[in-house]
Amino acid sequence: MAHPHIVVVGSSNTDMVVKSARIPVPGETVTGGEFVCVPGGKGANQAVAAARLGAQVTFVAKVGDDLFGRQAIEGYQREGINVEHIGRSKNAPTGVALILVDDAGENLISVASGANHAFMPEDIERIGDVICSASVLMLQLEIPEETAIAAAKIAYDAGVPVILDPAPTPEGQLNPELLQRVSYLTPNENEAERLTGIPVTDEESAKAAATKLLSYGPENVFVTLGAAGTLAASRAGTIMIAGFPVNAVDSTAAGDAFNGGLAVAVGAGKSVKEAVLEANAAGALATTKLGAQPSLPRASELKELIDQFPSTLVMT
Ligand code: ADP
Repeated sequence: MAHPHIVVVGSSNTDMVVKSARIPVPGETVTGGEFVCVPGGKGANQAVAAARLGAQVTFVAKVGDDLFGRQAIEGYQREGINVEHIGRSKNAPTGVALILVDDAGENLISVASGANHAFMPEDIERIGDVICSASVLMLQLEIPEETAIAAAKIAYDAGVPVILDPAPTPEGQLNPELLQRVSYLTPNENEAERLTGIPVTDEESAKAAATKLLSYGPENVFVTLGAAGTLAASRAGTIMIAGFPVNAVDSTAAGDAFNGGLAVAVGAGKSVKEAVLEANAAGALATTKLGAQPSLPRASELKELIDQFPSTLVMT
């Protein structure tokens, strides 16, 4: 399967970013900032990540019937993404993230989920055939959990593998109805810790957390460990797949690129090892450029990085 069909069910936001010398304290005004308005949301980032890596992508989301929603849809179209199933809420505005960044790169983010929270299980039932036609379904948690569960159920029953990036991670355990239908769970170290109570600081603790997560039902757990790479666990055992040595400047969207890379490789029928290797390469490349979507790599860049460092593949 050269160009897998990937269905992403998730969030679409508009990120409004002001960069200034420092972040104001409550009640204070800091002037002299620079403003940028960029598309964002984990669902959108992952859809763009998979599309840039050569997949045929259908993005299922909900935006408002407003300017930001229209701009977001136009942006996804420019990436070659099928936007036919992006709904427009009459009542809720497009999701917005207000982001303040200071000179040291520290940030403060406030999100108004808007239409993402008006994205309901009924919206999923209408597109069941789209999910059934996918090579892979990608989910994250910036939409209501029941909506993600509705999508996972359809995929699972149709034998479509489900990738779940458990972000943002809610307090406490994830719903077993969701986890039992997940083929690939992809927490980063903080998310793995939040879901298991096991502090994840190295390969050993990642292994302990992954083993606990496997007991909740997913077939595979890939704990992403930043520059160190990924600990991949299944009932057959665990392997560590090292990260690619790159000149990292901004880790924003590394996880989204990882998930996009994973989906494309799984959808193309690659083995777990190969798929995680490609996902690691996509994550690494995303750290070499500033921003979220602008940093998501293309298939040619991925191939170049993998060809350049074949010996970095370390598995234990
Ligand atoms: P998140 O963005 O969700 O916190 P990570 O930071 O763990 O996720 O990054 C996801 C993947 O991207 C990692 O498993 C790794 O393969 C790759 N990656 C992230 N940071 C770096 C880095 N500094 N150098 C090389 N690869 C990286």
